[in-house]
Amino acid sequence: MNCRRCGRELATWDADDPAAYRRYNARGLDQRCYGQAAYDGTLIDYPRATWPVELLLEELAVLTGSRGMTLREAAAELGLKKDSVVCAIRRHRKRQEKVSA
Ligand SMILES: [Zn+2]
Repeated sequence: MNCRRCGRELATWDADDPAAYRRYNARGLDQRCYGQAAYDGTLIDYPRATWPVELLLEELAVLTGSRGMTLREAAAELGLKKDSVVCAIRRHRKRQEKVSA
């Protein structure tokens, strides 16, 4: 995987080559680029790569509810695939069932 800002490979730690290490931070950015994007206000240009499920459900409710989108359209609006959204919802429900059981 490469950083979405500088395009450099997000390398894992290698003791033989410490200079190549670019730690992944969030939003597909390495730590340095994330810091720079946060500083210059361009973080918004790099959509979230992961969504807390509660937030996802909230957004989906708005998009499919008042805005009348299909689940596929809503997922696309958030930059996600419908299948990943369905999986996330299923995982969330399973976790909730475990809690209440
Ligand atoms: Zn970068």
